[in-house]
Amino acid sequence: CGIVGLVGRDAASPRLLEALQRLEYRGYDSAGIATLVNGHVERRRAEGKLQNLAAVLDRQPLAGTTGIGHTRWATHGAPTERNAHPHGTARVSVVHNGIIENYAELRAELEAEGVAFETETDTETVAKLLDHLLAGGATPEQAVSATLKRIHGAFGLAMIFAGHGRKLIAARQGSPLAVGYGEDEMFVGSDALALSPMTRRIAYLEEGDWVVLSDNEARFFDAADRPVQREVKLTAYSG
Ligand code: GLU
Repeated sequence: CGIVGLVGRDAASPRLLEALQRLEYRGYDSAGIATLVNGHVERRRAEGKLQNLAAVLDRQPLAGTTGIGHTRWATHGAPTERNAHPHGTARVSVVHNGIIENYAELRAELEAEGVAFETETDTETVAKLLDHLLAGGATPEQAVSATLKRIHGAFGLAMIFAGHGRKLIAARQGSPLAVGYGEDEMFVGSDALALSPMTRRIAYLEEGDWVVLSDNEARFFDAADRPVQREVKLTAYSG
């Protein structure tokens, strides 16, 4: 339902939590955050209110300056901690808005190849497909490009990758995503309001776009993987 992400200079998790609070108006049933800590994916999730996630983070703080966060409005799978985003493996972590229409077919195909699933979500098929490609030697960019060609539906995605500490990839199909430009920091969010404490300089992904964020640039690609430019504008939101 709500997506945030950043490649930042300071601790990611408090900023992700604050950005998620700004998306609370959209409604949600669970929430979670994943960051990269020494190149490894770490995550914390909780059922119910963001307060519950905040309490988990108080007990078990999350280090790392690159991360993604999500508030979930369940469509596939009960609103439990197990089904809460981010989803993933040791190689990749994914947050997702919307629905992957062909998830059952993709899941059957992966299961036939011996891939095990832990959740009831459509989102996990995206994570497992990415993982499968990464395990086969694909770069994050190659894995995302190939995965986007396999999944159907309306979605917004944000992904981080083990061993790639200053990188975040996001994609849009039928679900808005804004990229925010900071000072040696980059942000992504399902709306510009979520990013307003961090930056007012925003570029929107167009339909079918995907974007690779590092700490000082955003490289946009269209659905055919052609590099494209997207205009940076100042939003009206402040603070
Ligand atoms: N379809 C996904 C799920 O049920 C994402 C739902 C959302 O947009 O929050 O987990």
